[in-house]
Amino acid sequence: MTCQYVGRFAPSPSGPLHIGSLLTALTSYLDAHAHYGKWLVRIEDIDPPREQPGATTQILNTLAAHGLHADGEIRYQSNRIAEFQTMINQLLDTSHAYRCDCTRAMIKQNGGLYTGRCKTRSQVHSPCAIRFINPGTIGQFNDHFQGLVTLKQSYPLAHEDMIIQRKDGLIAYNLAVVADDIDQGVTHIIRGMDLLPTTLSQMNLWQHFSDTLPIYGHTPVLVTVPGQKLSKQNHARAVDPTQAIANLRYCFTVLGLDVPISNDDTTIADMLHHATVQWRQGITFKTHEIIVTETI
Ligand code: GLU
Repeated sequence: MTCQYVGRFAPSPSGPLHIGSLLTALTSYLDAHAHYGKWLVRIEDIDPPREQPGATTQILNTLAAHGLHADGEIRYQSNRIAEFQTMINQLLDTSHAYRCDCTRAMIKQNGGLYTGRCKTRSQVHSPCAIRFINPGTIGQFNDHFQGLVTLKQSYPLAHEDMIIQRKDGLIAYNLAVVADDIDQGVTHIIRGMDLLPTTLSQMNLWQHFSDTLPIYGHTPVLVTVPGQKLSKQNHARAVDPTQAIANLRYCFTVLGLDVPISNDDTTIADMLHHATVQWRQGITFKTHEIIVTETI
């Protein structure tokens, strides 16, 4: 079978995987395997102040302990800074981006949404960020799991000229994620619902560089209470790699997959295989959030 599908899991090493991020890794893995595709892993290590020492190794070890092996070499975004910078400079040189010295406080005062104040200013002060001029030509898309997503659906960020280089000089996530997905030939982006608000902006940037847009599928996120994503900030625990079977079973349950209960003969590979076969039969999500009721 030809292998046209390329998916990926792209964690930022700001901490070890918690059960919510393991779930995201697993859904992207299952979708890729259900399509007989490739599944890549990319470490998005371009924000040193938010990085936690040892997190990359922990993430990779945890993925391996759960049988989630990448097809191909792990990519590290920190090796790609020069390429990202070239793209940013080209956007500036061709007037598809501009410098912006607005502060967070100023934007907040204006209602929290950046409305393009610096786009026509001839002089901005240092330090300044760089924003991509969002042409807004893509105003809707069909999400693989969520159905039609439109600008009207209260995603104000989708209208913004998003930051592609930060005031501190660091490359912004929104530029790097699009640049690498294009460069790696990614065709399917399966990730958590928390990233849905920036998807339309990312698609508009993507279209600037390539006409072949990917398919996006946003999966439910685990929350402690409605609206509160499980995260390092709310003390989500690191996944214990020695409990891989229990962790996978938990994830399968929240995804509504009926994977045989493990016994001594069940291997992780068997569990992933069963889950992949079920995923291939079609999966729907009824909610955007899944409330975590038991601690894992
Ligand atoms: N690196 C991002 C994160 O850890 C995810 C990027 C993506 O999946 O698009 O939140």
